[in-house]
Amino acid sequence: MMRAHLASAMTLLLHDLKKTGAPVPLVEESDWQDYPGAESAMLRSSDFTGMGVWIDTGASEAAQIAMLADQVQEWVVELAEPRVTNWPQCPEHPKNHPMAAVANGNTATWVCPKSKRQVSEIGQLAPPA
Ligand SMILES: [Zn+2]
Repeated sequence: MMRAHLASAMTLLLHDLKKTGAPVPLVEESDWQDYPGAESAMLRSSDFTGMGVWIDTGASEAAQIAMLADQVQEWVVELAEPRVTNWPQCPEHPKNHPMAAVANGNTATWVCPKSKRQVSEIGQLAPPA
């Protein structure tokens, strides 16, 4: 069973991937990261290429979610089959850049990196309009 903090953050990211029609990784338990307080796992693509992800449980919950979001974003852009170069799509600038994961107080949100507008809490993305 995946460790609790990582599992709950992963649930939010998997929700956002599914809601937006992005590829969804197979999440495999793995203790590859042995940094104290770390929880880690492997994301696998359909061709079984793996990418390690981890969170630092010493950080706030919002920071843990944003940290995982950065890595899942990297997976979608670099390793997912099919690759999606722009995830999650910024509703204001759909052709220019993906949104950025930001920990803001107690919440982790997807924001436009340019306007800084908060579009959605991570884990609550809606399908693109
Ligand atoms: Zn934008």
